[in-house]
Amino acid sequence: MSTGSNDHNHGAGFQALADPLGRPVDGLLMSEFIGSAFDGCTACQDAQLTLLIEDPATSARVVELACVAVQGKFGGLPDGMTDPAAAGPAAPEFRQLARAGLDARNDAMFQECARMTTTQRRAAVNTAADVLVGMMSMPDITGQALHGTEW
Ligand SMILES: [Zn+2]
Repeated sequence: MSTGSNDHNHGAGFQALADPLGRPVDGLLMSEFIGSAFDGCTACQDAQLTLLIEDPATSARVVELACVAVQGKFGGLPDGMTDPAAAGPAAPEFRQLARAGLDARNDAMFQECARMTTTQRRAAVNTAADVLVGMMSMPDITGQALHGTEW
């Protein structure tokens, strides 16, 4: 089954990123979205992003994965990912969610994401995708870091 508008299958290597806690995350959609971002297929990425931002839990999970990846790699989140006044490319909406989830308050982040508009979620998820693709492009990031669920 494909969630994209064509027969591409970008998600095969990313299905392990589905949610280990049983939250209502659409693992197939998420893996296809992250896979298409990683593959640089903007047609699929855009199509899946439009579906993904209608789904607050799946959007939150993508942001969570980005935070977990950075936390696992660097031992914390830089100010530019949480502080609205700090320099950096992260969207304000991403920072808002990352801040809500600090100190392992992941549930609070999911709730915050559910209160956002689709436009806000789009901005947050776009930053998360950029972070994830960047992190996964590093040779020494391990899958283990992405399986954690708290930061
Ligand atoms: Zn594609």
